[in-house]
Amino acid sequence: MKHVYLFGNGQADGTAEMKNLLGGKGANLAEMNHLGIPVPPGFTITTDVCTHYYENDQTFPDELETELTDALKATEQIMGIKFGDEQDPLLVSIRSGARQSMPGMMETVLNVGLTTKTIPGLIKKTNNARFVYDAYRRLIMMYADVVMEKAAGIEVEEGRGIRNRLESLLEIHKKENQYQNDTDLNGDDWKLLSGKFKTEISSTLGDEFPDDPMAQLRGGIQAVFQSWNGNRAISYRRIENIPHEWGTAVNVQTMVFGNMGDDSATGVAFTRNPATGENIFFGEWLANAQGEDVVAGLRTPNPLNEDTKTEDTKDFPSLESSMPKIYSQLAEIRETLEDHYSDMQDIEFTIQEGMLWMLQTRVGKRNGSAAIKMAVDMAQEGMIDKQTALMRVKPDQLDELLHPMLDSQAEQKAVLLAKGLPAGPGGATGRVVFTADDAEAWHNNGDKVILIREETSPEDVHGMHAAEAVLTARGGMTSHAALVARGWGKCCIVGCSDLHINVQTKEVQIGNQLLREGDWITMNGTLGKIYSGQVDLTPADPDTHPEYKELMTWADEVRILNIRTNAESPDDAAQAIKFGAEGIGLCRTEHMFFDETRILAIRKMILADNETDRRSAVMELLPFQKEDFMGILKAMEGKPVTIRLLDPPLHEFMTLTDEQQHELADHIGTDVKTVKNRIAGLHELNPMLGHRGCRLGIAYPEITEMQARAILEATAELTQAGTSVLPEIMIPLVGTVTEYTNQEAIVRSVATKIEIEYGIKLSYLVGTMIELPRACLTADEIAEHAEFFSFGTNDLTQTTFGFSRDDIGSFLPVYLEKNILPQDPFQSLDITGVGKLVSMAVQSGRGVNPSLKIGICGEHGGDPSSINFCRENGLDYVSCSPFRVPIARLAAAQAEL
Ligand code: PEP
Ligand code: MG
Repeated sequence: MKHVYLFGNGQADGTAEMKNLLGGKGANLAEMNHLGIPVPPGFTITTDVCTHYYENDQTFPDELETELTDALKATEQIMGIKFGDEQDPLLVSIRSGARQSMPGMMETVLNVGLTTKTIPGLIKKTNNARFVYDAYRRLIMMYADVVMEKAAGIEVEEGRGIRNRLESLLEIHKKENQYQNDTDLNGDDWKLLSGKFKTEISSTLGDEFPDDPMAQLRGGIQAVFQSWNGNRAISYRRIENIPHEWGTAVNVQTMVFGNMGDDSATGVAFTRNPATGENIFFGEWLANAQGEDVVAGLRTPNPLNEDTKTEDTKDFPSLESSMPKIYSQLAEIRETLEDHYSDMQDIEFTIQEGMLWMLQTRVGKRNGSAAIKMAVDMAQEGMIDKQTALMRVKPDQLDELLHPMLDSQAEQKAVLLAKGLPAGPGGATGRVVFTADDAEAWHNNGDKVILIREETSPEDVHGMHAAEAVLTARGGMTSHAALVARGWGKCCIVGCSDLHINVQTKEVQIGNQLLREGDWITMNGTLGKIYSGQVDLTPADPDTHPEYKELMTWADEVRILNIRTNAESPDDAAQAIKFGAEGIGLCRTEHMFFDETRILAIRKMILADNETDRRSAVMELLPFQKEDFMGILKAMEGKPVTIRLLDPPLHEFMTLTDEQQHELADHIGTDVKTVKNRIAGLHELNPMLGHRGCRLGIAYPEITEMQARAILEATAELTQAGTSVLPEIMIPLVGTVTEYTNQEAIVRSVATKIEIEYGIKLSYLVGTMIELPRACLTADEIAEHAEFFSFGTNDLTQTTFGFSRDDIGSFLPVYLEKNILPQDPFQSLDITGVGKLVSMAVQSGRGVNPSLKIGICGEHGGDPSSINFCRENGLDYVSCSPFRVPIARLAAAQAEL
């Protein structure tokens, strides 16, 4: 088996199609060679080697060493210089590259091959000792951090690692010599510091920094493979659902230098604007700098071209004006790449002494709004077809359009603290925290937080994920914080130089205000503005986004699944219709009982100890319920509305303080002891599996009667008034057909009475929720009677796994961490287990009743992968919360493609 793939000089062993084997970076480096784009030569070690490494006690395949030597030779041949050569040494970079990009989550080692023997030759060749020693100290820093500390498994407290120690040596040296910037250091300074670094390394880590190029190369390669299983890479994979088995490839590539003088530079760019989707070349660059300077946000970069200058960057030099020839070569490459890949690319380049080299191209991350705009634009430009455009937007990305923005009037009155770069649009308000761990802890406590950092690093991802928004003092639009937040559609502001953060005291000075941990701020990520305190947010209005509307039209043309919503109020129903809902899939009627006036009646009903009293109490609820149903059926005119009969255990209505118990006793003319006894009598050890669902209606048929009457009287009256209404009465938590037929009989007999009373023929359906394994197993029996099924996958998941849906939080994190479960089964349907029951129920139900209408109304109805499963299994509709309706529409379209 081949483990190493070469690329360089317009030729390559690999292609863009080989991402699984070569990783995204390796595959695209190969492809760029095929496109005639200048790429520094090198080779890719496959992801198979990574898998082998982890499956074999962290050892490499035997043949790797020979392949490595051959590949190195081939690279040397293209470059005409040799690795480790004392006169003219080849230097290489070692970088990770997984199948799916994991920006900054794994390690990199640059300038590999610099040793005490190769340094003099390189100085002679470049005539630039400063450059060589600067490169050397960077190698030492990275190698010590990545290979000698992290890959060796040495755990250190935040801020106390070897890299921090070396950085403080640098700071001390700068202070002693009154240097402001790194650029003030000369060759002798760097040489001196390199020596100090090596001494610090051997005394702290107890090991010498290797002075042999091959040892550096092997150490670097192993460390990069090792970083696949670093903490931050693992947490990123968990968040992004990237399988741990994939592994990373490793790319070894000839070094090119952007810091060899004023005709050298480095930059990153996007072929279209990743924040807005606009079709303009967008990027950042720095003269005389290495790539890490741009990405790490250590220096604030310059705009790529004149068109993308902003108020803040108008006086900065663009690459277009500083190096016009190179810029036009880059602009041509932009076109070649976009044409070839038919998608927005994120590119990295280095200019070494006037010569342009491409270091990377990959499909660029973009926020939701930009993803939609680019997809629709590209389809309209003829670059892709509509189907591809539909697949280009992840359903969850629509969430961003549906996200809140700052209320514009409230914003005008808000106190502006500072401005930064608008890296992630939308509004957010939260309490400030200063470390990723704090962000996560506060978030888990139910607090909304905004994470403030000097700059973020991949170590911060878990905290960034937990935060409402991220704010950094340094960095540009392509800094780590910006890229990661944009990928998640999170509000984010970077490069806010007015922040003076003190992590130790957990304080930040913003302008003239001092904020402490826990203080509130609000951010407008679209404008890059930071405000003091809490500013009102307004819900998003996706209708103002023309490309979104267009994309949704395309989705509706393609999808077959209907999309309904779960809603209990006319307002929610109206909101859902605006988002494109085609009906209500679940109206939980109990939510209508909690109103002050109604709860008394229901409590009276619960307290009744004979049928007559109970019936009279229940009937007090009739006018309220009827009014509710009139409202909701009217709001959904012409669309089906599934109304579920009372579901929760009665004790949920009887959580009363002592005082309330007395009040209730007085109100209904009984003594408080009776109230207390009844409450005690309702107590259940396991209410979720207790007296709830249809079991209530069976014990207290008058409840079912009243609800059926309320629904059907509303139906009769609306029908008579000329409104088209389509109610579907749903019996909850059925496990046996007899439970179903018992309740159905009550509904139908009420209907017959109402038809006589109103003198009309009612049009309505009666059906059931399928939310217990026994219902799935006997779906054929139930389907002989029921007119529809709606899968209640919340309870079905609970009862299939035997996991309490309310208590899973106590062990789910461990389950996810230990890979016992790939994801929360209450969020994304467990296809292999719960899904099997669903498929079985659909098949046996339809076997008896081919026209059986089937939907899903558990939370999974708004989850894209569960939606795909529903379609594959022939469901007619999915039902989800109003704000997930657009997501479901797109996911349903994607299920057809
Ligand atoms: C379900 O169980 O999936 C369901 C929709 O009902 P509830 O969440 O109200 O129990
Ligand atoms: Mg349920």
